[in-house]
Amino acid sequence: MLVTERKPDEEILASVQGDASVFLVGCNGCHSACERGGAEDLPALAALLEGAGKAITGSTTVDFLCDKSLVRSRLRAFTRQILRADSVIVATCGVGIQCVADSVLKRVRPGCNTINLGGNHGTWGATERCAECGDCLLDKTGGICPITNCSKSMVNGPCGGTTSDGKCEVDRQRDCGWYRIYMRLKDLDALDQLKEVVGPKKHGNYLPSYDVMTGEHWATDAPVPAAAAAAGKEGDDE
Ligand code: SF4
Ligand code: SF4
Repeated sequence: MLVTERKPDEEILASVQGDASVFLVGCNGCHSACERGGAEDLPALAALLEGAGKAITGSTTVDFLCDKSLVRSRLRAFTRQILRADSVIVATCGVGIQCVADSVLKRVRPGCNTINLGGNHGTWGATERCAECGDCLLDKTGGICPITNCSKSMVNGPCGGTTSDGKCEVDRQRDCGWYRIYMRLKDLDALDQLKEVVGPKKHGNYLPSYDVMTGEHWATDAPVPAAAAAAGKEGDDE
């Protein structure tokens, strides 16, 4: 389970500035986890975009966007609408956005940020990974996460150590994430994107939010501090 929050409207609108038309994708699984990103949310997103003069070529939700075979089989029915769009906005977690990006040859833009739950999430089988950085960059990297695909989590291009066959200098068994990002942007005819400088990451966003850490669920899962456990034991003995 990954939990998301909608990106600010102005950020979404800035990301589609050069697009005339957009296709929208949501995830029923994400909606079950955090009540965001499902069929109920897409109309509001569509209204925001239409208000800014963008045409919506279509929209759909998939049960689990982190299941790439499901994504590909479900999106096939919308091939024409997707091809007519200049980009695809995916209103889900970072894994779902990457799975869609790997399935369609279109600019894929995040509609949500994946927020950190302090490791409190399940696992998924695909190679796409999200570190829940709280400020999704997939719009700028062709839908490949630089945080999880680059050994040094570089956000503004490669470190300079990429091998001639596109491997990572830290782990030569692994493809260089920035080599993959470059090749994806090239396929999308979007290499100009690399000229945009990404500002420093807000590392505070990697921490679970105050709301999460003071919530009932967190209190249930968090280890009981030793002093509190001892106090509880004394109380039991009385
Ligand atoms: S940039 Fe990567 S780590 Fe951050 S939310 Fe997007 S997929 Fe997750
Ligand atoms: S070689 Fe590529 S993946 Fe490895 S640390 Fe450098 S930029 Fe990142």
